[in-house]
Amino acid sequence: MKSLDTKCVQAGYDPKNGEPRVLPIVQSTTYVYETPEAMGDLFDLKASGYFYTRIGNPTNAGLEDKLNALEGGIGALATASGMSATLLAVLNLADSGDNFIASSNIYGGTYNLFNVTLRRMGVECRFVENDSSIEEIVSKIDDKTKFIFIETIANPAGKVADFEKFSKIAKEHGIVLMCDNTIATPYICRPFEHGVNVIVHASTKYLDGHATSVGGVIVDGGNFNYLGNPRYPLFNNPDDSYHGMVFGRDFGSACYITRARVVGMRDLGAIMAPMNAFLTVLGMDTLHLRMPRHSDNALAVAKALQSSDQVEWVKYAGLESDPDHERAVKYFDNCYCAGMVSFGIKGGKEAAMRFQKALKLFRIVTHIADSRSCVLHPATTTHRQLSDKDLEAAGVPANLIRLSVGTEGIEDILADVLGALEASK
Ligand code: PLP
Repeated sequence: MKSLDTKCVQAGYDPKNGEPRVLPIVQSTTYVYETPEAMGDLFDLKASGYFYTRIGNPTNAGLEDKLNALEGGIGALATASGMSATLLAVLNLADSGDNFIASSNIYGGTYNLFNVTLRRMGVECRFVENDSSIEEIVSKIDDKTKFIFIETIANPAGKVADFEKFSKIAKEHGIVLMCDNTIATPYICRPFEHGVNVIVHASTKYLDGHATSVGGVIVDGGNFNYLGNPRYPLFNNPDDSYHGMVFGRDFGSACYITRARVVGMRDLGAIMAPMNAFLTVLGMDTLHLRMPRHSDNALAVAKALQSSDQVEWVKYAGLESDPDHERAVKYFDNCYCAGMVSFGIKGGKEAAMRFQKALKLFRIVTHIADSRSCVLHPATTTHRQLSDKDLEAAGVPANLIRLSVGTEGIEDILADVLGALEASK
């Protein structure tokens, strides 16, 4: 299978003679074996096979294999949510006393996990900007630095990651580069082609695409050599919980994703429900139809916003005037930039309230990236505890409105947005 379109429809499940055409929902916690020895071998990782759904499930495997095929990785692991994908991906590399570098242009929930919760656990995040100089980023690296974290299209700031710069730094220092590819999806951008080693997804967003299922996935590029790299003792030292197994030696290029499953998922248990994996796969069957449509609709909205006198600024990398446009051309197929558009409305918070109340098609929800258009005003919702000054510092000014442009007819979308702008005056 070469085409991404075909992979969206067909990859991940290949039924044999007489088996169901559609990936079945295997709603079973456990699996039967005929001898105790056979079961013992599975626990020792001497044999492969399902034995308990926390460690692996055939429906989840359908999702993992489909996304892995789209991203071009070596293996994947489905998790209960996007947040648990990121947490597991981090803890598969870092221990208390370690640190990592992250762009501050990332999803707010991830920022919080890095800045507060992981810090409390003794794992220190050193933030940089997407546009920080190489010298500044390198100055934050020491021998306890385990990875660098970026987001392909940052939610809600809309900035596009500088893959070239971050991958050059990561390679030169023998450090893993990790990327959240949620908003772009592999249909638009495949970060492994740009030097990334580990990808995380909130499958809750475009992969599902219909706002039915919270979920996450970690994908391993299999393109980083952990064995012999002193930065990664978890892959070079014997693991006591597996009779002294050395993951880097015993699992080769698949050591990262194997350890994430058999240690991380075994111990933290944030597994995706098979029903959610089924619904997400169903959504992914049409990813190749939805992403171009989301992108075309969003570009039309961004252009209409740009020419409205009610709008102070528009952030959408698909616009030729956007500072990130060059990166979008370089990294994104057909310069598709997905459906998230942020803009600043004239008249601040009060105008933002009037705008949202006047919308009919766009509904007010704490979500993005499904087929139905929706809107959120971060200053009065997700960021409502912050003062106007703090909002500005966080890159979320009080007049910022985030639109998630859906797949409805563009004439209805534009009429709704332009009508609500008129009503917000
Ligand atoms: N990453 C990005 C870019 C997101 O937008 C989100 C959620 O909005 C997450 C991660 C977290 O995903 P979840 O809500 O499934 O935990």
